[in-house]
Amino acid sequence: MKYYVGIDFGGTGIKVGIIDEKGNILIKDSFVTDPRKSGNEIVEHIAECTKKVINDSKLPQEHILGIGIGSPGLLNPETGQLKIVTNIPNLNGVYLTKGISDRLNKPAFLDNDVNAMSLGEFYYGAGKGKKNVIALTLGTGVGGGIILNGELYRGSTFTAGEIGHMSIARDGKYCGCGNYGCLERYVGKDGIIERFEMYRSKGIETSIDAYLEDGKVTPKAIALAAAKGDKISIEVLKETGEILGHAIATLVNILNPEMIIIGGGISNAGELLMEPVRTGMLKHAYTIPAAAVEIVRAQLGNDAGLVGSASLAVANLK
Ligand SMILES: [Zn+2]
Repeated sequence: MKYYVGIDFGGTGIKVGIIDEKGNILIKDSFVTDPRKSGNEIVEHIAECTKKVINDSKLPQEHILGIGIGSPGLLNPETGQLKIVTNIPNLNGVYLTKGISDRLNKPAFLDNDVNAMSLGEFYYGAGKGKKNVIALTLGTGVGGGIILNGELYRGSTFTAGEIGHMSIARDGKYCGCGNYGCLERYVGKDGIIERFEMYRSKGIETSIDAYLEDGKVTPKAIALAAAKGDKISIEVLKETGEILGHAIATLVNILNPEMIIIGGGISNAGELLMEPVRTGMLKHAYTIPAAAVEIVRAQLGNDAGLVGSASLAVANLK
């Protein structure tokens, strides 16, 4: 049996786990990183945490083939260097894969967390057995990972897959990236909430108050209210889905994928979102690629980050 370690490196902590070659998680643990420590100390800590999980697993060392690290922020997957880690600036410029590989004596591989999750879904989730897959992660923003002919497509400066910043409206809403009309301004968290508030301001009745989180309207609250028949929430999901489907039509026309996988927060709304996504895509894409593509929900759920990170090792060592 072959095993792969995944390090899912987030803003507040790290999750470390080991998967087998079928993508089953055998062991996992989580740890807190102290952003005030030096870059070197943080790398040392990550290596220690990883060592602990490997030891706890009691697996024979030689069967653990390598380590994959999924990280937010800007990085270079070829050199393994972190460029900009927003929540932990002390790690900016650190060669993370070398630091981990040297300390654990195993090959290590780094990529951004969305690419990692996309690979996880491709190998072990909804995309199993496919060759050309695009994965989208809906959250505060919209992340994307593109897998073509079985390989992650990174682009010439490793920034491919920024589907959230696909411009869908020339004079649209301002986006934090400096552009106007980016997809994530319409189907990301804020865009969804703005759409809800627009309907509510028209005086349309809603049962949202029963689902608020800390007194606030959130995509999750909208999804819950929609599931119970709240009209505005259902309409908000429908519009969100159609906009997303419209954007996906462009991806379908350009890349002709077999499958689009949609994961992250609002995708939990299920068919109330997915059905309008498919309708929106069919309306705007060319007939032949549109008829061939499947649009499905991600399958790995809470473990997507960990399985995805380990998948980076799988992709490089297979
Ligand atoms: Zn943008």
